[in-house]
Amino acid sequence: MQLGRFDLQTLNGGRFWIDGGTMFGVVPRVLWERQFPADEQHRIAQRCSCLLVSTQGRLVVIDTGYGPKLPEKQQRQISAEADEPLIASLAEFHVRPEDVDTVIFTHLHFDHAGGASRLLADGSIQDVFPRAEYVVQRREWITATGNFPEYRGAYQSENLEPLAKSGRLRLIDGNVEILPGLRSFVTGGHTDGHQAIIIESEGEVAIYLGDLCPTWRHLPVLWCLGYDVHMAQTRRSKAELLGLIADHGWLALFDHDPDIAAAKLTRNDRKDFAIVEPMFDLPRGDLSHAPWFS
Ligand SMILES: [Zn+2]
Repeated sequence: MQLGRFDLQTLNGGRFWIDGGTMFGVVPRVLWERQFPADEQHRIAQRCSCLLVSTQGRLVVIDTGYGPKLPEKQQRQISAEADEPLIASLAEFHVRPEDVDTVIFTHLHFDHAGGASRLLADGSIQDVFPRAEYVVQRREWITATGNFPEYRGAYQSENLEPLAKSGRLRLIDGNVEILPGLRSFVTGGHTDGHQAIIIESEGEVAIYLGDLCPTWRHLPVLWCLGYDVHMAQTRRSKAELLGLIADHGWLALFDHDPDIAAAKLTRNDRKDFAIVEPMFDLPRGDLSHAPWFS
């Protein structure tokens, strides 16, 4: 869809299933299950909805899904879509990995950073986008690579080393303009260095929320993920960002909802938010005029 002079498209970084309890933390199951029915293994459906942003002359991918390197056991546990869903999804838009200029990570958990690297035949692991600059908060990078015992299992070195090795890693500090029209908004909460991405062109604004609010079912401000390292901070940032979106008529972009990738928001009478004008994928329109189309 057009956002000012930018083009935004939903990319499928892979579908998977995950334990419902972990996605809702302290929220009682009787409450979240009304919104999100679980399967017989107590799992709920998820999608990695990544984003393709075409700004003037630059192709940007935000988050990359879990990628092709999941250990077999994990692949089975979460029934993850196989192969490289993100690359297949990019191909649908006639985008090759070498066309991508910038890859921005909201944070570095496996289901956001794993799709940026792949295993080669010789057993080495290489980054997937040969020209791209990889952008992430410095604080997130330090947390992810620091081997802190309290974050054991949260980050995988096979997703991070290829980015460091590429020589194209760009660490940013705080709320900065990453590219003209693309700004970081550090939310913390989910991880220390978690950032949402604000996309703005010609007065139109969309916000990629990352795991601050991964599905529309997480709109109640107090409904946090079990994975959030600072729950109160998630709630603070969520109230602030969702409030801005609702009050300005901006577009919210969800990264894990299996059904809805984008929606406008409105405030409800419980001091929370509700969706209006939900979209499964962003409308594709006539892509033959897209600047990268060849
Ligand atoms: Zn996630």
